[in-house]
Amino acid sequence: MSQTRANFHTPRHALLRAKITRIRKQETDSATFRRVLAEIGAILASEALRDLPETTATIETPVSRMEAPVLTQPEPCLVAILRAGLGLLDGARMVLPDAPVGHLGLVRDEQTLVPSEYVVRLPKDLARRGALVLDPMLATGGSAIQAIHRVKQAGARVVRFACVVAAPEGVDALQKAHPDVAILAGALDERLNEHGYIVPGLGDAGDRCFGTE
Ligand code: URA
Repeated sequence: MSQTRANFHTPRHALLRAKITRIRKQETDSATFRRVLAEIGAILASEALRDLPETTATIETPVSRMEAPVLTQPEPCLVAILRAGLGLLDGARMVLPDAPVGHLGLVRDEQTLVPSEYVVRLPKDLARRGALVLDPMLATGGSAIQAIHRVKQAGARVVRFACVVAAPEGVDALQKAHPDVAILAGALDERLNEHGYIVPGLGDAGDRCFGTE
């Protein structure tokens, strides 16, 4: 782990960084964008959950008995913020195949940038499992703040947030609203522009993922 803001981390991970560069490029087509975004989802989920509580159990390998590490709790729920969070989900589910999945549909008003909800489907056992909320872009922080509020309202006590690219404005707003939530970002960019896009960013992640540019 590298970055030093409290409860905010960008992993020092060459593969992750190279993949993010790939999806930043404007010439990257939608199919490649989607595939690489899913790969990034697997890395981000692994990194965001690297400190899940562990214990040991006695197992038999084909060669001998050993005390082997196991998780003490069931896998955390994954919650994708629609649309673009879906792009991270396939990869995240590769490393968390038993995690229930929630969907939160939030759309930003293009003028005010304020998000409103159009779908909420959350797993029942958030209290027991906790949640990892996924959205490729942490821009103003509005969607992440609202999504995490919903997830906590539904019972989650331990919530983490993972994104591909974060703006400092979004990190500050999210930390202020939910200081207990650990934020993992693949990259921390410079700023937001006047349209609420992250600079340099990667453009509209939902449009690029689903080919709706
Ligand atoms: N959402 C995006 O998809 N891209 C941005 O740069 C900001 C918000």
